Amino acid sequence: MAVAMLYLLFNWYDKKYFKQNPISAKIQERVFKAEQKVLALIYNKFHIQRHIPLIISDEFHSNLYGLTSYKDKNIKIYLNKKRFKESENYMIEEVIPHEYAHAMVFLLGEKAPGDGHTALWQKICLELEGKECIQYVDNETIIREKMNSFF
Ligand SMILES: [Zn+2]
Repeated sequence: MAVAMLYLLFNWYDKKYFKQNPISAKIQERVFKAEQKVLALIYNKFHIQRHIPLIISDEFHSNLYGLTSYKDKNIKIYLNKKRFKESENYMIEEVIPHEYAHAMVFLLGEKAPGDGHTALWQKICLELEGKECIQYVDNETIIREKMNSFF
């Protein structure tokens, strides 16, 4: 029974994955590997084993990198397909840990105020080997960081 359920889950997952995502096989492979890596880190560091759907969608505005939704205790992570074009490495190395850290905050039950980039979120993001894990404290911080990158 457990085996059948698992099969269905992966079957569904694969179909959804490929139907919605005519992105290159190379990117799909990289996303899959990054997902496996982050799930292993979650298991090793937090002893939580949970399937969290990771969906690549082109239905978002191009400004957005990723999104974690939490509704009726269901967590889903979305990555913006449009962003893979020019930011493939950033999507893989930064956005995936960033979004899984949001998912973990939901799982751990913290009521995340504001935009959800709390101290706990940042700590988890770094544990999941995110490179930046920036807590976008306010607009000024973001602007300053953007300006610094020009110098
Ligand atoms: Zn975020």
